[in-house]
Amino acid sequence: MTLKVAQETEEQFIARGKEIGFLGNPIKGKGRIIWFTCGEGNAFLPMLADMCRYAERIHPISFNGGAWLLGDRYDEHRMRLRDIISEQLQEAVYAMKWNTLVLASHWPCVFAPKNLSFRNIVYKTVEGARVLDGSMDGVDLIAEIHVGCGLKREIHNLDFRHEHFDKVLSIDQQNSFW
Ligand SMILES: [Zn+2]
Repeated sequence: MTLKVAQETEEQFIARGKEIGFLGNPIKGKGRIIWFTCGEGNAFLPMLADMCRYAERIHPISFNGGAWLLGDRYDEHRMRLRDIISEQLQEAVYAMKWNTLVLASHWPCVFAPKNLSFRNIVYKTVEGARVLDGSMDGVDLIAEIHVGCGLKREIHNLDFRHEHFDKVLSIDQQNSFW
């Protein structure tokens, strides 16, 4: 049976992403990281606790929504916000002299518009990482999404350079699920 993308659950999308290879396990042993994330009150501390497993020191920068904002470029306000965020990230890299920058979104996120699905947030996070990729010399850029809440939480690394993202996105668009 061929599964229609529109019927796909979040778990099935994650499984598809792992199978194709654009979703993976968090990268370990990164040491000192600059972490751009959503600061949502009910989610921030659990996300921070999860990040502490992968980093020895963390410099957090939070904007409502987190990394997917960087890929949300469809009006002037968002474009201005993206410029401000980019400046903040560059300033942090320069001031801290740390070269690992993690762009994080999470799901569910109270700041995600109701018309955006989980996969929309993943794609916007990927697009945001691609916007920054190559613009910061010597910076190791990582994109990730935190999924779940309470005791059931996981982090998925997004291989935003993975060519299959484009193919999967185009299939999803053909299924009118964008
Ligand atoms: Zn949030």
